[in-house]
Amino acid sequence: MNVLLTGSAGFVGSHLTERLLADGHTVTGVDNYISGQPGNTALFVDHPNFKFIQADVSEGIPYKAAAFDGQTLDFVLHFASPASPPHYQQFPIETLMVGAQGTQHALELAHAHGATFLLASTSEVYGDPQVHPQPESYWGHVNPNGLRSCYDEAKRYAEAITFAYHRRHGVDTRVIRIFNTYGPRMRPDDGRVVTNLIVQALAGRPLTVYGDGAQTRSFQYVTDLVDGTVALMDQPESGAVHAPVNLGNPDEYTILEFAQVIRELIDPDLEIIHEALPADDPRQRKPDISRARGLLGWSPQVGLRAGLTRTVESFRQSGSAAAEPAERTPVTAE
Ligand code: UDP
Repeated sequence: MNVLLTGSAGFVGSHLTERLLADGHTVTGVDNYISGQPGNTALFVDHPNFKFIQADVSEGIPYKAAAFDGQTLDFVLHFASPASPPHYQQFPIETLMVGAQGTQHALELAHAHGATFLLASTSEVYGDPQVHPQPESYWGHVNPNGLRSCYDEAKRYAEAITFAYHRRHGVDTRVIRIFNTYGPRMRPDDGRVVTNLIVQALAGRPLTVYGDGAQTRSFQYVTDLVDGTVALMDQPESGAVHAPVNLGNPDEYTILEFAQVIRELIDPDLEIIHEALPADDPRQRKPDISRARGLLGWSPQVGLRAGLTRTVESFRQSGSAAAEPAERTPVTAE
């Protein structure tokens, strides 16, 4: 198949590229490196089935201009967006634009080629959820103008326009809602809890837990996400494939427990310190994955300790432990 993937130089995009190429597909990656990394393009640039367009998909996707033998497309996968809270809060307008115009440009491309469109949406559409765990039928609890709104509302709009193209133009659309995902090739400075704590632990510094650490997250290893994504791509079109599908690992940890796992894996003597809880930080998050299990026969295969062990090893090898983690916008919940 011929696949166009926006956000190919991002953490998830790079793992998806790797898998699609391994499965024998042709991948045209698009990225503007706002949060993706040129090193992730360099990984594949010599592969005969990989092509790359450096472009901001909010401005348009110059697929035709890039020619590529006038090939038609089978899939358009829209993964481009800053995704870690410090990154999207640093680029709030760009984040809104890539969810809005970027999604529309990707949908137009899919429509023009008769391609299937797949949107990378997020558990953030549930906001600070009042239903736990979160099934896809839950409409969410989102602050429309808070610190996270640039990301949450961009993705909610992206889902809405995806459904509009399906209903109005009959585009075969699919939507995954990605829960916290981690693994090798995350940016060590992306400011998320996984990267911050690994970088801190490898440097022998105290682990920063925001607030009392009672808030929960459910962490998914990246290869599980890729397996789920490919399983949804492989589904023949039917009424059932268009509705959003949660992809996440339902094993839920408090952030304090998560810090203790990091400490246990890297250095039991590390100190845990508490810092201010950012505004609008969701109190709990855990996917209900019944739909993915039933529709795709999918469930996560990699547990937290196994996934973290691989991630820590990759951080050790790449020397990224030396990087300084990003500071979070110091706006507290009070
Ligand atoms: N967090 C933390 N210490 C850090 C970074 C994050 O305690 O150094 C907390 C953050 O407040 C949130 C959770 O860890 O409650 C997950 O944060 P992350 O940025 O990884 O993703 P989110 O799920 O909030 O988008």
